Amino acid sequence: MVVVDSEHIVTITGISHQGAGIARINNLVVFVAKALLGEVVRIRLTEIKKNLAKGELLEIITPQKERIASLCAFSEICGGCELQHASYSYQLDAKRQIVAEAFQRLAKIDVPVAPVIGMETPWRYRNKGVFHADYQAGKVVLGFYQQGSHQCHSASQCLLFSEEVNRLVSYLEKGLQQYSPAHYVQKIMIRQSSFNGEMMLVFVTKDNSWRLTELVKNIITDFPQVISIYHNINTNPKLMLGKIFHHISGREKLHDTIGDFHFQLSPQSFFQVNNQQTQRLYQKALELAQLTGTEQVVDAYCGIGTISLYLAQQTLMVYGVESVSQAVKDAQQNAHDNHIANCQFITAKAEDWLPKWLAKNHHADVIVVDPPRKGCDSQMLHALANSAAEKIVYISCEPSTLARDVRYLQENGYQVQCVQPVDLFSWSWHVETVCLLSKLSAQQHIEVAL
Ligand code: SAH
Repeated sequence: MVVVDSEHIVTITGISHQGAGIARINNLVVFVAKALLGEVVRIRLTEIKKNLAKGELLEIITPQKERIASLCAFSEICGGCELQHASYSYQLDAKRQIVAEAFQRLAKIDVPVAPVIGMETPWRYRNKGVFHADYQAGKVVLGFYQQGSHQCHSASQCLLFSEEVNRLVSYLEKGLQQYSPAHYVQKIMIRQSSFNGEMMLVFVTKDNSWRLTELVKNIITDFPQVISIYHNINTNPKLMLGKIFHHISGREKLHDTIGDFHFQLSPQSFFQVNNQQTQRLYQKALELAQLTGTEQVVDAYCGIGTISLYLAQQTLMVYGVESVSQAVKDAQQNAHDNHIANCQFITAKAEDWLPKWLAKNHHADVIVVDPPRKGCDSQMLHALANSAAEKIVYISCEPSTLARDVRYLQENGYQVQCVQPVDLFSWSWHVETVCLLSKLSAQQHIEVAL
């Protein structure tokens, strides 16, 4: 009987977009976390909803040859990474498949997906972490939620961060125990520069009063690499960080690099978490844009102007559009510091600004978009389709919304030319993709529609 709690032996025949194994029991599609493609496994059904179900992995009867013993001693309990039990090459293949499936299944677009650009050493790559503070029987743990629970697992040995960050986490756990009144600190964000190892700390609390002066004094003495400390007030537990930041100590910004460019980061700035792979991603975006030095380029969702500066090296003018005003100020400063004069940054919602700018008879030869997870808003897609830009370079961290938006653009005068995933988040199922679309001539558009 196929009911909750029943046990089954199944073969994993697919990979879900979140990296879980997919099996079928008659018409029921079952997602099995931590099961790999091709494995025969014994599972227990934990949840059934219509024709979808979740299964708990009980036993691996026939393991995949790509199954590995994780280097991380806590991979079984920590909810931070989903693919610690799979070899790196399996992960890269799985991510390519996740992107290809999004295009085929969701967008009905049959396009070759290039092999994922991976890392040589996929460890200790993260330059930022937000660690939850969990108060367990008088002990403070800073880290990530355990699988399916609200208990935290300490990140003091997490292999995605540098050893200095691991040491700082362990130090802060002890420090909070000593100096933080019960449950005062909710989270701590740590940013580390891959350029010089310096770190920025942000203590996140619910209320406005600052109660960690003693702890901060000691951190500065014991960790000279911590050059900046902030206090963030967050009253909404669903959000990672609140809107209010108070500068507590040290410098206001952290200095980091991507390739040859230098960036000053505020605590709230968006900055990709993996510097080495971000450089490869931006390099690929630049290559796909095929700039000759004469183009007008729009960089929509530009953050602190990282991609804009890359593009500006090879073109006439770049217009960066970003909705967060502090990020735009940082972008302007970054362009100045890198001696780049052919960039202009605008604070606006991309979907509001682009149609207005185009209506004033401006023309973009290339438009780069790098929206958040939810993809481009319909007004933005409409503006892109009517932009007459020869090329659109779409960078995305969510294959399903990328495929959805590319489908719209394909139906409205553009054709996808290249889909290139890049691995910025090794050991998790997340994948970044850069995609090139080019404008079809009116004749080509008619032929495609037929
Ligand atoms: N291209 C940058 C940032 C990408 S993250 C980089 O590679 O670092 C997405 C950015 O889009 C964030 O900075 C976010 O603040 C911004 N954003 C979100 N919604 C937006 C909108 N509607 N219009 C413009 N920018 C937006």
